[in-house]
Amino acid sequence: MMITPLEIKRVFSLLEKEHQPTMLEALKSYTPFQKVVMTLLSSRTKDTTTIPLVKKLFARYTLPADFIKASVSELEKALYGIGFYRVKARNVKKLSRIIVERYGGSVPDTFEELTSLPGVGRKTANCVLAYTFNKPAIAVDTHVHRIANRLGWVQTKTPEETEAALKEIVPKMLWKDVNKLLVDHGQRICVPIIPKCHRCVIREFCMYGKTQEL
Ligand code: SF4
Repeated sequence: MMITPLEIKRVFSLLEKEHQPTMLEALKSYTPFQKVVMTLLSSRTKDTTTIPLVKKLFARYTLPADFIKASVSELEKALYGIGFYRVKARNVKKLSRIIVERYGGSVPDTFEELTSLPGVGRKTANCVLAYTFNKPAIAVDTHVHRIANRLGWVQTKTPEETEAALKEIVPKMLWKDVNKLLVDHGQRICVPIIPKCHRCVIREFCMYGKTQEL
């Protein structure tokens, strides 16, 4: 049976009550530029690795100009420990240059402009729009994709399909909350292999959860 907008609002308010800040919320005092960089760096890397690394990184490199000045090998060293750190070092340097040369040092705030930056894909761009610019955007990572399918809200194979399907059913005013609520839920309760349905506050709304004997 199709989930209604009212039920989705109820699910979100239940998740909100036990919400723990995600990485981008925990680091919300940083500048839009730093948020783009940290979002890019966080892909395929655990938050517990990314958070201390970016704090150290931004203590040393603050502005796009600082990343432009740094050599690639210097940046590789600073990023060592996160996934694909060599590629990311190059992308952060290139992206910094584009932000300075094309956008006068300010991060652009449209999906098209953001995805034209090196290393910035759909998910990163949508994260930046939602967390930095407070715009309606659904950033679908592995947690959002998995949970939306377990809940039975979508039946999709890829994050792109999930994003499109969620946009059809989630009220637009809640789009920016999808990532923060489901990522946190996916890290603590609806974990990848064996979800903790017995502790889940939204089980009554979940297709998978209802099939589990507790
Ligand atoms: S009931 Fe289980 S599968 Fe459904 S959202 Fe909760 S933890 Fe995930």
